[in-house]
Amino acid sequence: MRAAGSTGYGVVTVRLPAVGAQSAIEWTDATWNPVTGCSKVSPGCAHCYAETFAERFRGVKGHPYEQGFDLKLWPERLHLPLQWKRPRRIFVNSMSDLFHEDVPTSYIKDVFKVMAAADLHIYQVLTKRAERLAALAPQLPWASHIWVGVSIENRRFVHRADLLRTVHSAVRFISAEPLLGSLTNLDLTGIDWLIAGGESGARRRPVKEAWIQELRDKCLAAGVAFFFKQWGGRTSKAGGRNLDGRLWSEMPKPVAERLQLLNSVGW
Ligand code: SF4
Repeated sequence: MRAAGSTGYGVVTVRLPAVGAQSAIEWTDATWNPVTGCSKVSPGCAHCYAETFAERFRGVKGHPYEQGFDLKLWPERLHLPLQWKRPRRIFVNSMSDLFHEDVPTSYIKDVFKVMAAADLHIYQVLTKRAERLAALAPQLPWASHIWVGVSIENRRFVHRADLLRTVHSAVRFISAEPLLGSLTNLDLTGIDWLIAGGESGARRRPVKEAWIQELRDKCLAAGVAFFFKQWGGRTSKAGGRNLDGRLWSEMPKPVAERLQLLNSVGW
């Protein structure tokens, strides 16, 4: 069974149960959800599909989302990346936020221990809780295959990039999706990669072409890899992902060699 949806970062495709699902997100290969459920922190969360999706199954006995979008730890899923023999880019917690205030610090450390150990994969950890990320980062085992990013939807939240800059990860990235306004005041110093995209779904808030072009031009000027994921629309693919006559699918430069290596082994 498959279902399309958005975590507020854009539309994703998950298989049920969502324990190690292939992903339709253009910038990743798979999702791993050792935590599910979350709560809203900023306007980018307003139409969180993860919530809509999970709440559909609230009360369904035995379903992975029987508890709806209530936060739930899944320790039995922790070991999964150790079992996956084929290298993947793994989006960590597509159905939650690892740095949610109700996730115990010890559990976050356990997730990082697994990521550090299962090092044939690349992990993409994305959060809106930049304060907690920055606070815990010195206690976590960073390695070149663990990327970390923050979501920034409008100019009020560019301070998340300042907090991200304090984290000593090999790759720091920004997800500007759903982009809800111009990010003229975003400083890209110390940022390796930026993903931009518009919102999708019935209640989408349309993105302006000028906001996307502005981000692309900022990335070009700063030497930051730029990935344009979607214009958005009724569905994630409805508007396509063409910007000024071409696709923008750049990946972070510091790991280009590693990506080539993974491709050579049939990634
Ligand atoms: S932080 Fe992400 S997963 Fe949590 S409510 Fe917001 S959009 Fe949804």
